[in-house]
Amino acid sequence: MDDHRRQGIGMTSRRTRERLAGRLGDAGIRDARVLNVMRQIPRHLFVDEALASRAYEDTALPIGHGQTISQPFVVARMTEILIRDRIPSRVLEVGTGSGYQAAVLAALVDEVCTIERIRALYERSRALFRQLGIGNMRQRLGDGFEGWPSAAPFDAIILTAAPETVPPALFEQLADDGQLMAPVGGGGTQELRVWHRRAGAFDEQTVEAVSFVPMRGGIEG
Ligand code: SAH
Repeated sequence: MDDHRRQGIGMTSRRTRERLAGRLGDAGIRDARVLNVMRQIPRHLFVDEALASRAYEDTALPIGHGQTISQPFVVARMTEILIRDRIPSRVLEVGTGSGYQAAVLAALVDEVCTIERIRALYERSRALFRQLGIGNMRQRLGDGFEGWPSAAPFDAIILTAAPETVPPALFEQLADDGQLMAPVGGGGTQELRVWHRRAGAFDEQTVEAVSFVPMRGGIEG
């Protein structure tokens, strides 16, 4: 990677990120911690070079293999909810994809464990985390339907691919007083739901309509 790409010039500069943070604020993101992190993280490195100039538009973009990097507003919203009551220490993400959501979380919490089922995306994000010097990230090539039992329990679990229903294994791997957030409903449009685990029971809230790629089983590649 050349220096220009690393530092970000023109459409990928710090000023462009500043504008994105401004737009997210206007759109209703209130948490300054989240806006600050999104000001820092070079989203253009998480998309293909050909799309780098669009990296700070508030839109989802293709990352290959039929997958997308989530829209910045959705990343901000989900992160804001996840840290609202307290900052979770350890977070499990299902659906590493580009690694952008995981990188945002890693800047806020102690440790992020993230699972991806497509080998090429797993490898690309792994190289990027290393290049960015993100040290509190654990990655696994695997099927998120199973979660990550040996690393459980997690204080928060976030799904960035949509299942028809949340796999029971994930509820089991959530620590008491933890939150699980997932877009539910498979393909197309889903409802973003949040479950809070209290004394072994789960209360559920619906946040808003969202659109994620569907969650699929097995490993690819
Ligand atoms: N958080 C990502 C969003 C990527 S899209 C980002 O910020 O870029 C969702 C990702 O979930 C895709 O990469 C897809 O391959 C992955 N995925 C779908 N089903 C999965 C499963 N069962 N286990 C792990 N990853 C899964």
